[in-house]
Amino acid sequence: MIQSKLPTTGVSIFSVMSRLADEHGAINLSQGFPDFECAPELVAAVAASMREGHNQYAPMLGVRVLREALSDKIERLYGRRYDPESEITVTCGATEGLFSTLTALVHPGDEVVLLQPAYDAYGPVVQLSGGTPVFVTLRGPDYRVDWDDVRRVVTARTRVIVVNTPHNPTGMVFDRDDLRELGGILERTDAVVVSDEVYEHMVFDGRTHESIAMYPDIADRAVVISSFGKTYHTTGWKIGYCAAPRAISAEVARVHQFVTYAVNGAIQRAYAEFVRRDPTAGGVAPFYQAKRDLFLRLIEGSRFRPLPCRGTYFQMLDYSAISDEQDSDFVLRLITDHGVAAIPLSPFLHGADPGPVLRFCFAKRDETLRQAAERLLEV
Ligand code: PMP
Ligand code: GLN
Repeated sequence: MIQSKLPTTGVSIFSVMSRLADEHGAINLSQGFPDFECAPELVAAVAASMREGHNQYAPMLGVRVLREALSDKIERLYGRRYDPESEITVTCGATEGLFSTLTALVHPGDEVVLLQPAYDAYGPVVQLSGGTPVFVTLRGPDYRVDWDDVRRVVTARTRVIVVNTPHNPTGMVFDRDDLRELGGILERTDAVVVSDEVYEHMVFDGRTHESIAMYPDIADRAVVISSFGKTYHTTGWKIGYCAAPRAISAEVARVHQFVTYAVNGAIQRAYAEFVRRDPTAGGVAPFYQAKRDLFLRLIEGSRFRPLPCRGTYFQMLDYSAISDEQDSDFVLRLITDHGVAAIPLSPFLHGADPGPVLRFCFAKRDETLRQAAERLLEV
């Protein structure tokens, strides 16, 4: 008989909600992906790369020109040089980056600190490696980290501390003080930091992204993980990367070689061109900030109350003025009765109350946001 390795893990909430949105013909503001096209030049660059014959296995660590472009980009933006030869691994999305990294680092009996609401991919991967997730709960409306809470759970068994800035689903972003606190905590443990920075280019209102790579003491023992899917509106292409000091990187690659071996080389070449051309991806933040502001303007006068959104392409809305239902019930009614799909927070939480909030993705055409808002105004 089969004995599940993840007996308490259900189907990803993103699959569940996108399927329900389809079934009910609802406007899908649930799973995080754009409903508009990526740059045609990017598609053309991939096609050109395929025509040029880049159709066989890419190098295991990633196409050299992409690793070089990433190394230069990270150095220019965050001031740390990762050796393209030995410190960058291109993965099948940040998802594989997280899987390979956590699998490489976590041993049976290890504890891994997760800040919750926690992105759904972290906990199960820790469990698969025989580790124990130890949750620290962030509280609304700001969902800032209470570092004393983190300090309290860090023990000699803590192998990894996972952080995520900008934070999915809450839109919280780390500031300098957060990094100072994290640095202080690391002084009394030999834990490694895994920093999920897939929304690094989506930070709003004049703030800047505080990458772990900017802080040498932390970066010396950290894996920084990012993804091209968000920045280039290509979530379906599933390419990301891990940057880490050589010894850690070697362990990540040791796992990566048997998860996917290598990822799509033609797409890697196209990304390399785009990263070189515009390493700061400077247009992405104003683009999404305008989307956020439009969405907020459009739902003004509704009974939903927006929570602060400082980064990512998600807006959390408090529905306590509408209903006292649990989030998983209310979100279903929103689909069936009002034709809008969102994401409940409960799947991101373990033993903590999600409160009356849902996550809405605003990576959508203005027209989609307009139609969704019309419906939300009726709720
Ligand atoms: N981490 C976070 C916080 C995410 O929101 C996502 C999904 N977009 C991922 C990782 C996975 O990224 P990818 O699609 O590149 O696998
Ligand atoms: N990261 C995306 C989100 O938060 C979804 C990714 C996925 O579907 N696995 O909506």
